[in-house]
Amino acid sequence: MAPYTLPELPYDYAALEPHISATIMELHHSKHHQAYVDGANNALAQMAEARDTGQFQNINRLEKDLAFHLGGHVNHSIFWTNLAPGSDGSPEGELGAAVDEFFGSFDKFKAHFTAAAMGIQGSGWAVLSYDPVGAQLVIQQLFDQQGNTAQGTIPVLQLDMWEHAFYLDYRNVKADYVQAFWNIINWENVHQRFAAARENAAASLLMS
Ligand code: MN
Repeated sequence: MAPYTLPELPYDYAALEPHISATIMELHHSKHHQAYVDGANNALAQMAEARDTGQFQNINRLEKDLAFHLGGHVNHSIFWTNLAPGSDGSPEGELGAAVDEFFGSFDKFKAHFTAAAMGIQGSGWAVLSYDPVGAQLVIQQLFDQQGNTAQGTIPVLQLDMWEHAFYLDYRNVKADYVQAFWNIINWENVHQRFAAARENAAASLLMS
C-alpha cells in the first residue's frame, strides 16, 4: 500500500479568494501536490525493488527523487493548514511573544519574512522554523522542495514561492502575492505547530 496520500483541504478551493483563486487552489492541490505524493511513493517502491534485486546503480537518483517529492508532499501539507479564509492580523499569546523576542517586533518579522520570500532565486519557499538547538525561531529560504535549510529545524509557517503558486493570479508581480498572504494566515495553526515543536524538542533533548 502506498504510504503517502493526498490530504483533503480544510476548506473549499474558492475559500481563499480573492487572495488566491479557486483555479490556482484546485490545480495546486489536485495536480501539483498529487504529483509529489505519487513521486514519493514511486521513489520508495523503486528503493524496495533495488533492495530485493540488490541492484543499487540508480540509488543517487532515487535518493534525490525521494528528497524532492517527499519534500513537496510535506511542504504543501503544512502550507494548506497554515492558510485560512479571513484570518488577517498578527500572532498572539506565546507565539506573538516569541516573534517579538526573536525578531524584535511583528513588523520586523514581517519585513524579514517578506524579503526572504522575495529574494528566493528560482523556485522555493520562505519558512518560519523552530530551531531546537538554539531554542528559537528562525526564517529560512527553502530551495526547490528540499534544499538550503538546516537539519532538525521544524517548519511552523511556510509560503510557496514557486511560480505555480501565484502566476495565474499575479503574473510577475509576486510582491502582491506575498502581500496577500498576510491576509490568509491561520495563526492558530502556526501557534499549535510552534507549541508542538518546542514541546517535542524539549522532550527529545531530555532523552539524549
Ligand atoms: Mn506548490
